[in-house]
Amino acid sequence: MVVRSDWTQSQVQALFDLPFYALFDQARSLHKTFFPNQDVQLATLLSIKTGGCPEDCGYCPQSAHHKQVALKSDPLMDVATVRQAAQAAKAKGASRFCMGAAWRSPNTHTEKGQAQFNAVLDMIREVKALGMEACVTLGMLTPEQALALKEAGLDAYNHNIDTSPEYYDKIITTRAFKDRLETLDHVRDAGLSVCCGGIIGMGEQISDRAAMIAVLGGMTPHPESVPINALVPVEGTPLGHQKTVDPMDIVRTIAVARVVMPTSRIRLSAGRESMSQETQVLCLLVGANSFFYGDTLLTAPNQAEEKDRALLAMMGLPVKGALSEAADEVCHA
Ligand code: SF4
Repeated sequence: MVVRSDWTQSQVQALFDLPFYALFDQARSLHKTFFPNQDVQLATLLSIKTGGCPEDCGYCPQSAHHKQVALKSDPLMDVATVRQAAQAAKAKGASRFCMGAAWRSPNTHTEKGQAQFNAVLDMIREVKALGMEACVTLGMLTPEQALALKEAGLDAYNHNIDTSPEYYDKIITTRAFKDRLETLDHVRDAGLSVCCGGIIGMGEQISDRAAMIAVLGGMTPHPESVPINALVPVEGTPLGHQKTVDPMDIVRTIAVARVVMPTSRIRLSAGRESMSQETQVLCLLVGANSFFYGDTLLTAPNQAEEKDRALLAMMGLPVKGALSEAADEVCHA
């Protein structure tokens, strides 16, 4: 079976337009072909620097532009605290540890910024020393910063495209869609795995979802991890008034992502806390094979860990790189 990188928006739109059972069949079949043991990767996400971000992403409570949001800002964590959090995540079964800093980009042209970036490099080394996959999200990167992260042992860099190129400036005005693509190029050039996805439920059209997935599916290779988030509306943000997205929209988006990117880990990300177990089962059936695991997702609540364990046990799905295997796992997420 050929993995394609020449998807057009209209081809992806045609997948969205399929009767659900036809899309389900395609997605299910590809998921079984490319992930025969149907394992699920558990990734834990830690906010290592919270709030006060100069970007104005309309969905994000960490933006300094959204002054009505009640969120406590925290400076960069120290390395020892991050190591402890990674150890705890590993003990609970996570094989990937993701660290997020609310920055526009690492500010390595100042002494303080360089020291903070060096601390992040140390955090990566600590996570790797535990035998876990390390992923960070720090905003836009220069080619040199991407290389430094790779040299510290980083496996993957998260940098979402969020939505379609056309809808992008309705959500974010402090940077452009092409800036995202530029950083993703630097990440690839440095030899890092790419974690890149988006958010649905921000008032976009289905055509925007198709355009977003066409951009991801047009990458060569596809991002190794594709987080699909459902907007968690936060009071005080410009998108705080949005209605929660229809669960079947999430299922359908995951199914389309699975068909377009059959070898990628599709990660069911934010929004899971408010989903029924049945919706999550459907997401897993149509191709989701990664979860964020842990009680919080940066600043948003996440589904309780016990519920995740119960869900995976009920479905009989193995956990990727669980405990004893963790040290042997390499990043092909
Ligand atoms: S999504 Fe990231 S870049 Fe955007 S405001 Fe939030 S922390 Fe900043």
